[in-house]
Amino acid sequence: MTQHRIALIPGDGIGAEVLPPACAVLDLVGKRHGLTFGYDEFDWSCARYLNEGAMMPADGLDRIRRHDAILLGAVGWPCVPDHVSLWGLLIPIRRLFRQYVNLRPITVLDGVPSPLRHAASGAVDFVVVRENVEGEYSEIGGRLNRGFPEEMAVQEAVFTRAGVSRVLDHAFRLAASRRGGITSATKSNGIVHTMPFWDELVAEYAARYPEVDCGQEHIDALVAKIVLDPGRFDVIVGSNLFGDILSDLAAAVAGSIGIAPAANLNPEGEFPSMFEPVHGSAPDIAGQGIANPIGAIWSASMMLDHLGHPEAAGEVMAAVRTVLADTAVRTPDLGGTASTDDFTRAVLDALP
Ligand code: ATP
Ligand code: MG
Repeated sequence: MTQHRIALIPGDGIGAEVLPPACAVLDLVGKRHGLTFGYDEFDWSCARYLNEGAMMPADGLDRIRRHDAILLGAVGWPCVPDHVSLWGLLIPIRRLFRQYVNLRPITVLDGVPSPLRHAASGAVDFVVVRENVEGEYSEIGGRLNRGFPEEMAVQEAVFTRAGVSRVLDHAFRLAASRRGGITSATKSNGIVHTMPFWDELVAEYAARYPEVDCGQEHIDALVAKIVLDPGRFDVIVGSNLFGDILSDLAAAVAGSIGIAPAANLNPEGEFPSMFEPVHGSAPDIAGQGIANPIGAIWSASMMLDHLGHPEAAGEVMAAVRTVLADTAVRTPDLGGTASTDDFTRAVLDALP
């Protein structure tokens, strides 16, 4: 019996509706593989911020640093500014637990209509690797001359050799283990310091991994190609900002934002990694029991993989694929009438 301790952060809105399905799937698949999961739940959220003035307690990170992994639902609420949930919870976890790789697999699943008519299922299968802790999202900069005609804002981006290298290394190794293709998102024709530096480091890694076919695209051309010809990509690697944009675009291309999973990885395993559906708290459908749980279930499958249980991870995704391909059970975002519970039950039934 292997026991894993998982920190659960349901967060806001549908976050609390999609984590129980993920846990139910983990518990059932775990039985076949000799795994048990112990969950510790933390109420860190915008709701907590509104009551207590902080998304999480001051010693929050200490309370979860020894867990094997973190499963997050979604944080964010309309009356709380986005930067509060980002800087009060997500960014500290990503940075202090050195989760420098953000991994987002994009697959058009059989039975899920992609907005791209020619994106046949099976034909689209790529992974966006986003640098997750530095780059454009920095606090360095400031505002000058507020309210005057001379007003200005300056925002610095921080790219370090160590920070870019480690995410590139992860991306190239991932590409080598898949179909051997990598595309670097750049904009060195317009951003004249950080992006040429990024390109140089990409070239170093391309030389180090001759078996990987490495190309680069300017971000503006790349987004167009993802829409026009998503089947050509294997691994796409980008900075924090570019990777953020690419992964939301790619999630939409795959059919519904309710499906897309994400992993925030600390590849060395010195700290827990965090797994979360890409979608937000969805206030418009919260409380109705109709949220699509696939993003959370898929994230749990990525967690199984990361914890060293690829077979169990594969069984979870096979069950999701079976339900989508062979049944009409699906939530309203995919054109069905099933509830979150209905869909979850169908996935549990489809597990071996
Ligand atoms: P955030 O700023 O936290 O990313 P957001 O406002 O950008 O949030 P979401 O909260 O993800 O975006 O919601 C965007 C739209 O997608 C909403 O209409 C929402 O209802 C829908 N949506 C998001 N997640 C799901 C889901 N799991 N199931 C069904 N619909 C969803
Ligand atoms: Mg969003």
